[in-house]
Parts: sequence; structure tokens; C-alpha cells
Amino acid sequence: MKVHLDLLPLQDWLPGLERPLFISGPCSAESEEQVRATAEAIAQSGKVKVLRAGIWKPRTRPDTFEGKGEQALPWLKNAAKQYGMYSATEVANAAHAEAALKAGIDMLWIGARTTVNPFSVQEIADAIRGVDIPVLVKNPINPDLQLWIGALERVNRAGIKKLGAIHRGFSSFEKSPFRNAPMWEIAIQLRTLLPELTLICDPSHIAGNRELLPLVAQKAIDLDMAGLMIEAHIDPSVALSDAQQQLKPEALLGLLSELNIRSASVNDPVFLNLLEEMRKAIDELDDDILQRLAARMQIAEKIGEYKRDNQVTILQVQRWDEIIGKRLFQGKAMGLSEEFVRKLLELVHQESIRRQTGVMNSKLTK
Ligand code: PEP
Ligand code: MN
Repeated sequence: MKVHLDLLPLQDWLPGLERPLFISGPCSAESEEQVRATAEAIAQSGKVKVLRAGIWKPRTRPDTFEGKGEQALPWLKNAAKQYGMYSATEVANAAHAEAALKAGIDMLWIGARTTVNPFSVQEIADAIRGVDIPVLVKNPINPDLQLWIGALERVNRAGIKKLGAIHRGFSSFEKSPFRNAPMWEIAIQLRTLLPELTLICDPSHIAGNRELLPLVAQKAIDLDMAGLMIEAHIDPSVALSDAQQQLKPEALLGLLSELNIRSASVNDPVFLNLLEEMRKAIDELDDDILQRLAARMQIAEKIGEYKRDNQVTILQVQRWDEIIGKRLFQGKAMGLSEEFVRKLLELVHQESIRRQTGVMNSKLTK
């Protein structure tokens, strides 16, 4: 389905914003002093342009810290202003949005647990209709690209053109080193469908711990995302939410300065020529791979006809084991990972079987 959004680029959102945009601050605003001290420390390098803090916290279980509520809005607003940053917070319903607007918060985001619910998203969109404020929409907790796009559409139709998305990973039952599986391909698909959309990554909620954070942050930058939202707390050891993933301000600034920021568009002609040549080589190889695959499928069909005419089963396990074993060995010798070769062969094999089944079910040639 075609998607159209009426969007303004990041640099037109608020004065001084540019790629890569770094948003940081505590998971939750816990006290006026905690927000102020964190803001003071992360403002040091001048890299962080937006101070974040959760005011209303969506918690999995009741009786856990659910945020300080409305009283904390001025803590966030004032700390951001005092240290030359913009303020941003999460809104999960119309009342939150109205309170945040009234307090003069500069940027809003819709959290992952809210994006899943079109009623809530619509309610927020209606509450901010026509207001000139940047809004970021986090991906829904489940890996559903259409739901994410639907939320972006609802907010955009309320007249919000300063609109962006945040990739924060997806809930998954599978065991994984990440708190939320990154499923990068979903973020890439969103970028492909909406190339003008400002897409930011939230490595904190993907990683869920400090150790994996730099890796996820670098990967997001390498995928040409427009910025990062990373949680930082003046003293993560006593944080009331997401303690394991929050960075001390010094660690945050260290991480940001160690990022290798590569540009997606370079103007150096020598580089461009070389890149052009390599891309051509890739195009030719892809062409070759497709032609070879088509040829392979044709042979598979011929074998299918032969098996049918001679009443032989399609799947011959011994032959398949032999192919897999040989190819994995070959692939390894060529520097291809076992997982990649196995997945590729399985796909090719499935398609061969599908084609052979088609042949088997057709008439005898004799
Ligand atoms: C947060 O940013 O602290 C938060 C609750 O994030 P998410 O909506 O991604 O879980
Ligand atoms: Mn958090």
C-alpha cells in the first residue's frame, strides 16, 4: 500500500537541530535535582540537543514506580532551558498531551505501548491537532510495520509535519541478548517506504544493558539513522526505572564521541567513481545470481518430470544431506557463514520442492 506523509525535515523542526540528533536524559524524572544534575552533566559537550525524561511511566506491573506525573513537567522544562537544550517527554493519552503542551515542553513522543493502540494514538493526535510541535512515534512493541505507519499517519493527519519515528526494538518470546529484538529490517523497510521520514534509534530500549549499547548505537548510525535517543542518569545505580540500561553522563558523552559517523552522501568524485564501480559490480553479480537461480529451478523441474515418470518421491533425504554437507564446507572455505549458507540453501530447496510438486501433479509426459 502506498504511504504518503506531509513532512518537514529535522533541520526545520526547531532552530539548531541537525543530523545526527542526540536526545538524552533519564528514563524517568525522579526529582527536580536528579533532572537538573543529569541535564547539567549531559549538556557539557554541546552534542545533546534534546533533554528527555519520562513523566508518566508505563510499567508492566502495578506497585512499581509510575512516574512523578505533572509536577515533574517544570523540572524537565526548566532544566532543559537552563542548560541550552530542548525538552521532550512521552505522552500516552490526551490528558498527558494537554499537560505537556501547557507546560511548554518542546517535543513529544508516543511510546511503544501506546503506538499499538490506534484509539490512544487517535486521541493524542486529536489533542495536539494543529499544534506546531515536533512529535516522534516509537515503533509498536510488536513487529508490525503497518501499525507503526498507521500511527504516523494519524498524527500527520492532525497537521503535525514535524514528525519522526523512533526504532526501539520489538518484544519477542525468543531468547536473545537484547531486551527488545532490533529486527533492523523493519526499520529499513520504513525508511524505504518513507525516505523523507526522520528516523531515530533508541539503543537503550533495544539493548536493555550498558554493554550492548555502543554496538547498537553504531549499527543505527551505520544504517544512516537521523539520530539517537539514549537514556542517561546522574546515578544509574539508584534509578527508579531501567537501571541496567542507563548510562552515567560521562559514559554517554564517551559513547557519543566514539561513534564513527559516516555520511550516506559524499561529494568526493574519486570516492563516488569507485563507489559507482563497486555498485555496478554488485548489480552484475545480482543479475548473475538471479539467472543462475532461474536456471537451477528449470533443472529442478526437469528432474521433477523425470521423477514423476519413474514414480520416485520428490524428497530424497540422503541426497539433501549430501548437498547441505558439501555446500556448507564449500561456503566456509569461501568465507561465508554456515548460518547464511544453510538458510539460503533451505530457501532454494523449498522452492525446488514447490516447483517439483507442481510438475508431479501435472500429467505424465509419456
Ligand atoms: C522510555 O523511553 O522510557 C520508554 C518507556 O520507552 P518505550 O516506549 O520504548 O518502551
Ligand atoms: Mn526507559
